[in-house]
Amino acid sequence: MAEYNEMSDEVLRERTRALLEEAHPEKCDSVTFRRAQYEHGLAWVHFPEGYGGLGLNPRMNVVVYDEITKHSKVVHHDPGEAIIGIGMGAPVVLTYGTDEMKKRLLPKIFSGEEIWCQLFSEPGAGSDVAGLATSAVRDGDDWILNGQKVWTTLAHISRWGMLIARTDPDVPKHDGLSYFILDMRAPGVEIRPLYQITGEAEFNEVFMTDVRIPNSHMLGKEGQGWRVAITTLMNERVAIGGGGSKKKGGGSAPLIKLWKDRKPGARSAAQEAILRDKVTRCYIENELLRMTSQRARAAQKSGNPGPEGSVSKLAHAESLKRMWEVAMDVMGSDALAFEHGYELRRSTPGIDTPRGLAKYQFLRSRANSIEGGTSEIMRNILGERVLGLPGEPRVDKTVPWKDVPRS
Ligand SMILES: Cc1cc2nc3c(=O)[nH]c(=O)nc-3n(C[C@H](O)[C@H](O)[C@H](O)COP(=O)(O)OP(=O)(O)OC[C@H]3O[C@@H](n4cnc5c(N)ncnc54)[C@H](O)[C@@H]3O)c2cc1C
Repeated sequence: MAEYNEMSDEVLRERTRALLEEAHPEKCDSVTFRRAQYEHGLAWVHFPEGYGGLGLNPRMNVVVYDEITKHSKVVHHDPGEAIIGIGMGAPVVLTYGTDEMKKRLLPKIFSGEEIWCQLFSEPGAGSDVAGLATSAVRDGDDWILNGQKVWTTLAHISRWGMLIARTDPDVPKHDGLSYFILDMRAPGVEIRPLYQITGEAEFNEVFMTDVRIPNSHMLGKEGQGWRVAITTLMNERVAIGGGGSKKKGGGSAPLIKLWKDRKPGARSAAQEAILRDKVTRCYIENELLRMTSQRARAAQKSGNPGPEGSVSKLAHAESLKRMWEVAMDVMGSDALAFEHGYELRRSTPGIDTPRGLAKYQFLRSRANSIEGGTSEIMRNILGERVLGLPGEPRVDKTVPWKDVPRS
């Protein structure tokens, strides 16, 4: 069990009010406010002092949020584009980074000034990411990277990337990996957009040709990359599966709005009854999801989550797909037309009408059960690591990576 510092809610509230006196969200922009929030140790209160936290139980983050919203109509939430840095970059830097790295990187992750991406998946290594082929070869104080990553969300605007590369092809696949923080502006890094069915290009292909990366940018030790990657992936699953936090089926609110705004008389009474049943199920599922996420978080025994994070990731992905399908049913044939103004674009926040949002989300939710590990892989993890069922046969586990046949 992690050891946390003791602090009463009231003292934490007082500290939050002191922050608000110095920087008030209504009077300054997001970066200015979040810089001050970090300095006060109120960014992520469960982080240690000096790194944006106070070493408190993670459940106390809500006290800070509550106090801010009590005194401000404006809330500078986590910037959408900072999600990978905040959800995954920060915990992994905190766990494995040197003091210098933590001081350099954490403040700008939280303020949203530096965006992060995750360079794990490759054309030949997705679910089986430990089989990846991007190589890093030592050259003096640097490593030379060559290879290709794919599906790299936000790479086009990222300052830093979390990257796993093969530093030893002569040992079994999990043992020959090392983990680096890549400067996305380094010479030899080329980023090309990939367009999704939604029309946007939130992710990219990233090509690395003779990219130099200093040894000081390695997280963990040489050959320990898999262990560091697991920390990243566990945090990713909790970050992705953390939805549904609003009470009373909050995640299903857009669907309920569409249902209330539906055209009268468009369906028979029997069809209406079936659809009402489906909408009600989505509401209930959202409530269950919220409580399941809470339980998974409560089960989190240390600073970094364990395999139980896969519960909410799996439930969240499957429930979102079901919900946006029901939204399509509620809209009927209207669902088939794009809203006026829908265009090919890079990722931009918010689609501002309920109907436009539902059409976008219906397409986007296909990705929920793939990104951050597919639902099949989540079921494998839960079966093997949470329920203790027998593992899948893994024939390549002890074979040197270079001898494993691949296409
Ligand atoms: C929107 C989006 C954003 C993404 N962002 C990133 C990112 O920022 N960084 C990054 O590194 N990656 C990212 N990914 C990639 C994502 O992690 C991979 O797509 C995912 O892990 C699956 O890998 P794959 O696409 O190679 O499919 P494969 O691994 O080839 O899987 C194909 C199918 O086989 C199934 N399958 C595979 N192995 C097993 C098994 N052992 N048991 C049962 N079924 C199995 C899978 O469930 C799937 O249905 C993103 C993906 C999406 C869709």
